[in-house]
Amino acid sequence: MNAMEKIVSLCKRRGFIFPGSEIYGGLAGTFDYGPLGVLLKNNIENSWWDHFVTNRDDMYGIDAAILMNPRAWEASGHVGGFSDPLVEDLETKKRYRADHLLEASGHSALGLNLEELNSKIQALALAGKLENSEGTVLKKIGEVRQFNMMFKTQVGATEDPTSISYLRPETAGGMFVNFKNVVDSFHPKLPFGLAQIGKAFRNEIAPRDFIFRLRELGQMEIEYFCHPSKWEERFEHLRTEFLTWMISIGLPESKIHEVEIGDGDRAHYSKRTIDFEFDFPMGQKELAGLAYRTDFDLKAHSEYSKTDLSYFDEETKERFIPHCIEPSIGIERTFLAVLSSAYNEEEIDGEIRTVLRFNPKVAPIQIAVLPLSKKEELSVPAEKIAKDLKKIARVSYDETQSIGKRYRRQDEIGTPFCVTVDFDTLTDNAVTVRDRDTMEQVRIPVADLASYFSDKLV
Ligand code: ATP
Repeated sequence: MNAMEKIVSLCKRRGFIFPGSEIYGGLAGTFDYGPLGVLLKNNIENSWWDHFVTNRDDMYGIDAAILMNPRAWEASGHVGGFSDPLVEDLETKKRYRADHLLEASGHSALGLNLEELNSKIQALALAGKLENSEGTVLKKIGEVRQFNMMFKTQVGATEDPTSISYLRPETAGGMFVNFKNVVDSFHPKLPFGLAQIGKAFRNEIAPRDFIFRLRELGQMEIEYFCHPSKWEERFEHLRTEFLTWMISIGLPESKIHEVEIGDGDRAHYSKRTIDFEFDFPMGQKELAGLAYRTDFDLKAHSEYSKTDLSYFDEETKERFIPHCIEPSIGIERTFLAVLSSAYNEEEIDGEIRTVLRFNPKVAPIQIAVLPLSKKEELSVPAEKIAKDLKKIARVSYDETQSIGKRYRRQDEIGTPFCVTVDFDTLTDNAVTVRDRDTMEQVRIPVADLASYFSDKLV
């Protein structure tokens, strides 16, 4: 098994992530979170929210509807241009992203327009040098064309063109359409940001790499508004904060790569973009993006909605459309980055120990309480200890199987500490605390447990 297969298998076996609607054969590009997965996901989201919203005075959280008036997606340019280059293998009828095929064949698609992409693809196919990511040579392929990735749906009971809407392809739209509402209700001073965590939907041509490229995904996004003259300073600030947060949830700095996106390759609205790429098991790929979107969105929404989205600065008496910087990160890509960099296998006494070295801050379970025996004389005090620890940590209680097996199980789900209650506990009122990473064990009085853990779980 390669590294990714091991992670996929662990996710299924231990209840982190399951294939979407699996008993019906699945649905490509969808996955479901299991009991441990939802904990890890919530911890990632909460730490992002704490870092960027709760701990700051210049951020406002919102939670907008997924379905929006379709005019909003016309204004943002998504109806016209949110597309990927699609090409079909005429023999197998399989569809590919043309730029991904070029990359798999050892060429770069950077800076190419649709026409150039098509001629390069056709030339490679003719020469028998066009390959997919599995190394299969594709000979007969169709023309490359643009494929719009928005999921269309119908709102209401009448089936006519006016009832068409879309599942949002990014959460950003919800923030731009609420800019005026927040300004009118909170009167925030520039610079300030709107932050949102939510689902987005993209009809990806070829969903793949486990939860890396999905059709239903979560995003954590900020639209940060500032005076046009201040964008560079704010961009730098958000860039540092983004990186600081990534490191705070346990991503190794050495695996994060900032890539400046060149002129021809940025989205139409962006004057500057940095992609944060990460060393995933399948290679270095985009984890997050930081884009300077100028006044593109507020201007376009002003025009399409006929609503004035300008901002009046009371101090300078200046009226203008604020400029916007957007740090955007996918929840599942963060999840995969956290999981894959935490994954370790090591040999202990001739046996392989699988351990997820999660940062305790995001670990689904932080402390496991394990009575050495199921006997009531141990389970009663152990349950009491677990109940008390729940006030300060995410705790699980486990009394099945041998203690060695239980330690391994907790290692495999990334629990940083195990608290073992044994027969000595009954006389010395102390327990053994085992550290996941060093496997060292220390004896701690039950009364001191809360203070012992106080600085170890954040
Ligand atoms: P890619 O180039 O990989 O398709 P993108 O540049 O289109 O991604 P953005 O539009 O910048 O992505 O979206 C912001 C973030 O949302 C990305 O950095 C990524 O973390 C996440 N994301 C985008 N598309 C997907 C997807 N199909 N599945 C999972 N996460 C995604």
